[in-house]
This record gives sequence, structure tokens and C-alpha cells, in this order.
Amino acid sequence: MTPVTWASLRGLRQVTCRAKYRGGVLSPNVVVIGGGLAGSEAAWQAAQRGARVDLFEMRPARMTPAHRTDRLAELVCSNSLGSNLPNRALGLLKNELRRLGSLAIACADATSLPAGDALAVGREAFSQAVTAAVQEHPRIDVIREEVLRLPDGVVAVVATGPLTSAALAEDIERLAGQGYLSFFDAMAPVVTADSIDMEVAFKASRYHWHRGEPVRPQANVSADYINCPLSCDEYYAFVEAIKAAEKAHLREFEQDDARRYFEACLPIEVLAARSPDALAFGPMRPVGLRDPRTGRRPFAVVQLRQDDLSGALYNIVGFQTNLRWAEQRRVLRMIPGLQHAEFVRLGQMHRNTFINSPKLLGPTMQWCTRDSLLFAGQLTGTEGYVGSIAGGLLAGLNAARITQGLAPVAFPPTTMIGALMHYITHAEPGSFQPMKANLGLLPDLGLPIRDKQKRQDALVARALADLEAAICASGLAPGGSDRPAPPCNH
Ligand SMILES: Cc1cc2nc3c(=O)[nH]c(=O)nc-3n(C[C@H](O)[C@H](O)[C@H](O)COP(=O)(O)OP(=O)(O)OC[C@H]3O[C@@H](n4cnc5c(N)ncnc54)[C@H](O)[C@@H]3O)c2cc1C
Repeated sequence: MTPVTWASLRGLRQVTCRAKYRGGVLSPNVVVIGGGLAGSEAAWQAAQRGARVDLFEMRPARMTPAHRTDRLAELVCSNSLGSNLPNRALGLLKNELRRLGSLAIACADATSLPAGDALAVGREAFSQAVTAAVQEHPRIDVIREEVLRLPDGVVAVVATGPLTSAALAEDIERLAGQGYLSFFDAMAPVVTADSIDMEVAFKASRYHWHRGEPVRPQANVSADYINCPLSCDEYYAFVEAIKAAEKAHLREFEQDDARRYFEACLPIEVLAARSPDALAFGPMRPVGLRDPRTGRRPFAVVQLRQDDLSGALYNIVGFQTNLRWAEQRRVLRMIPGLQHAEFVRLGQMHRNTFINSPKLLGPTMQWCTRDSLLFAGQLTGTEGYVGSIAGGLLAGLNAARITQGLAPVAFPPTTMIGALMHYITHAEPGSFQPMKANLGLLPDLGLPIRDKQKRQDALVARALADLEAAICASGLAPGGSDRPAPPCNH
């Protein structure tokens, strides 16, 4: 590996990094930027596999608007890492991370609090445990400095999170190209396809007008949307319910952002408050659609668009919202066809810097045009604490593998970690929004199991078996140094 100019990391200041030479030899080196959940995990994974790691964290000299301490892996809001049940998406993801030797999950287990089926942690104890483990690791140096530019000529993991500092965000945008870095989530809810009542909803694409004539989609073109028709009474009752529903509050630092970004992407509750008919002329317009059961145009329509390659998930088009989550479930189930909807993601709008991963990253977390540059965490569009840890783990172990001349790995999409990374790197780039781990991301079993519980159990069993096979096939040593793949018995 060629010597590194550390000036590229730290603005224009030329500094000699104490981690650069060890015993007169420049070691294989990994730089991790951001000491949050993803960055701490990435640094640990790379170091455990023998890489010498410099972990850059800008706090406490420069704080984000949400962090309060100088600790690594600080939890900025809730102290819960979600379900610990083995057959739930987050429970499965945690079990996979345990199997892969995750530092953050081990610290969470060690600092857990009674919280029913969820894994809640003592907030301070958790980040203290991660901080101590990382700082005391003999191959990690923690450097408390803001990184202003993306490094070049060194294997690097960028994990600066939803509140990436402005200078670095600018540099990422320079590399990505304009329009490939977002600063605000405007997430519409996502439901599972099999929870939509197709006795009520119908498949159709809108036709449009050309020179005064309706142009219908060709008969042989598949209908892209699922449409939920509303009568006049149903529509106005729905609008009233949205207006009365409880809204989530934006944090102070997000209110300015909201003023800047919301106008282009108005939440349904803002539209409903502006005028009772605003939604019917906006995201719920029925133009170009006929309900095949009545042969007539409905008064209003809620459209759902396929959200994943397998067609298991659908997002509600134009329904970005800041209603409280319990209220979203209640109000959205008033929509005919969605009365039994199972939500895998609820709508939200908040400050969130994230790259267009489907355009820019491969499933190994490597930048598409620069193999030595990896990204991880919420910056890549994995939503939530555990998804961020998962991305950090994958990027960290791949960073180490690159320095050792081993091929980077991607986990199979039948595992939860693989499915999440597959989603963020293969979703539709034009409408890409962050995604939480959910069982809907896993490919269909191809077996006719009608019982939901049994189906979930089968998905989980397949995920864990495929993870074992992947560990074996790629010679991964969970939590330790990798070796070239041995012959596998699988
Ligand atoms: C206000 C808010 C509330 C949230 N609440 C929840 C919640 O309750 N539950 C949940 O699951 N998720 C929540 N999230 C999402 C949460 O941020 C992620 O789940 C998780 O923290 C992301 O991990 P990360 O490692 O990607 O980023 P972070 O944990 O944010 O870590 C990024 C780190 O990079 C550092 N950094 C940034 N720029 C630079 C730079 N240029 N140089 C050096 N260091 C830098 C930051 O100081 C930070 O320590 C919330 C997000 C926000 C913004």
C-alpha cells in the first residue's frame, strides 16, 4: 500500500498521524470516519481482523445537533434497539449480528434492561461499554477531529450518519454528483402486498391525455399500481380523521429544515389542513383511473407502488406524513382495501443525510467507482440503530479483507443483513428512501405456507442456515481474522 497523505483527511493541514507507522513499517491501514453505531462497529470489525484502524470522531470539539456526549455509539433518542424476538425482523437481525461477532450487540446484551420482548439498554452504560472496547483495542486509535474531505489512497469507511457535518457532506456530494445526496427524509408508509385487500383494491396504471385524447396503458403492459378507491363520504371522513390525528413534533433544529424542504414534498396532514379538497387534487387524484367493479372513476384514489424487486412490499404514493405512528396505523386503515394493512415502515419526515445507495454502492458497501471507499450506517439509507450496526459490521469486515487481499463479501439476500443491504443497493434510485429491517425484504420461500407464524419461522430458519453457509463459504471468522475460504461441507 502506498503512503497516505493525511492532509486529504484533515482539510489542508499536513499532519503526521501517530498510527501511520508501526515498527517502521506502514501497516495495512483502515480509516473509519464517524464514531457512531456504524463507525464503532466498523472499526472494531476491521481491527479484530488484524487491520490497524484510525477512527475519526468530531465530537466533542464539534457536536451534532442531536448528540449530547463525547461517547462513541451514543444513542441519540430512544434507548431501545427494538424487538428481541427471534422470529421478528429486528430479532433475526440481532441474532445474525450476534453470530457474526458484533461488538455493539454484545455491549447491548451486557447492558440490557427489563423491557419485555425488546432489547432496551442503559443508555450511558451501553455507549460507555462500546467506547471502552474501541479505545482499549490495541489496533484502534481514536482521533477526535472533524474530517472535512473524503480520503483517497487508503481503505476508508465513511459512517458519519444522518447528521454528517456540512463540509464532509459537500465533499460527498462532489463525488456522488448533484442530486445523489439527500438532507431530509420524506418517507411514505410501506405495507406488505399480501395484507392489501384485493377484493376492494384494483391494479391499474393511470392513463394520460395527449391532444385532448386519453392514452390508455397498452393492454399487454402490466398495471404498475394498486389503487384503493374512495367514495365521496369515505374521502371526507378520511380527511377529517387526518386533520384530527395527533402529529409528531419536529425537533428545534429540524424546524428550519422543514420550512426549506416541506414545500416540495408536503405531508398529507398539511395538505388536508390547507383545504378539504387538496388531497383529492394532489396525491389522491382519481384522474385516469376506472374502478373495474363499477366501471366509473372513483371520487378519490390512494395509489400504492411496488417497493421491492420481489413485489412483497408496496409504498403509499405521495403519503409522506408526520402523524404519530399509532395514529398512522389507525387513520390509514380507514382506506378501503387497507383495513388490514400490515405496515413494515411508517411515514416520517426528519433531518437525515443519506446517499442514493442504489446508484452509488454495491452490496459489499463499496463505492461503485472506488473499491477502497466504503460507506455504512444511516448515511447509506439503513434506518435505525440495528440496521446501522449491521452496515458497520459489513463495511468493517470488508475494509479489513480489502487490506488483506481477500475478496469483499456480501451476505445472501435470504438473510436479514443481506436483504437489507440488497434493498438499499438495488431499490429504485428515483424514489429511494431509507428502509428499516423487515421480513418483507426477504425473498419468498416458494412454499405454500399459509399460516403466518409458520411462514415467519421458515423464513428465519432459512436465514440462519444461509448465514452459516455464507460464513463457511467465505472463510469468515466471526469476530476474528478471516482466512481464504476452506472447502465447505454445505
Ligand atoms: C434526532 C434523531 C433521532 C433518532 N432517533 C432514533 C431512534 O429513536 N431509534 C432509532 O433506531 N434510530 C433513531 N435515529 C436514527 C439514528 O440516527 C440511527 O439509527 C443511528 O444513530 C445511525 O447510526 P450511524 O452510526 O449511521 O450515525 P450516528 O450514530 O449519528 O454516528 C455518526 C457519527 O459521525 C460523527 N460525524 C459526523 N460528521 C463527521 C465528520 N465530518 N468527521 C468526523 N465525525 C463526524 C458524528 O458526531 C457521529 O458520532 C434518530 C436520528 C436522529 C437524527
